[in-house]
Amino acid sequence: MPYAYDDQNIFARILRGEIPNKTVLETEHSLAFHDIGPQAPCHVLVIPKGAYVSYDHFTAEASDAEILDFSRAVGEVCRMMEVSPAGGGKGYRLISNTGAHGHQEVPHLHVHVLGGRSLGRMLEALD
Ligand code: 5GP
Repeated sequence: MPYAYDDQNIFARILRGEIPNKTVLETEHSLAFHDIGPQAPCHVLVIPKGAYVSYDHFTAEASDAEILDFSRAVGEVCRMMEVSPAGGGKGYRLISNTGAHGHQEVPHLHVHVLGGRSLGRMLEALD
């Protein structure tokens, strides 16, 4: 099944400048900005500028330059937000929710960079 991208999603609108954002980092192929509903003291979203719905879509169709840029942007945000242990931070978690089971709300690839507090176990215990 081909990947379907909805160009009216909220992050596409942010990329077009139709909705404001609090930018942390902008590179040639990526944008990082604060989440509107932060769930931790550090809650930054990193997105590629290209029209990709998920990580698997991105890695199947993006150019090497886009993938390198995005990967480096995620790491740079961890350093900038001072959550990287190498910079004296206490660590972080990267999350990329996808599809129905991943409870993805916005259908444009994004990586959540979360930190600044203990984040608990990776997943809730099963009922
Ligand atoms: P998802 O559940 O798709 O992984 O997460 C989407 C995230 O986007 C949520 O954490 C939500 O708070 C954030 N979000 C939704 N709309 C906006 C917006 O207009 N601006 C910003 N900065 N974040 C948003």
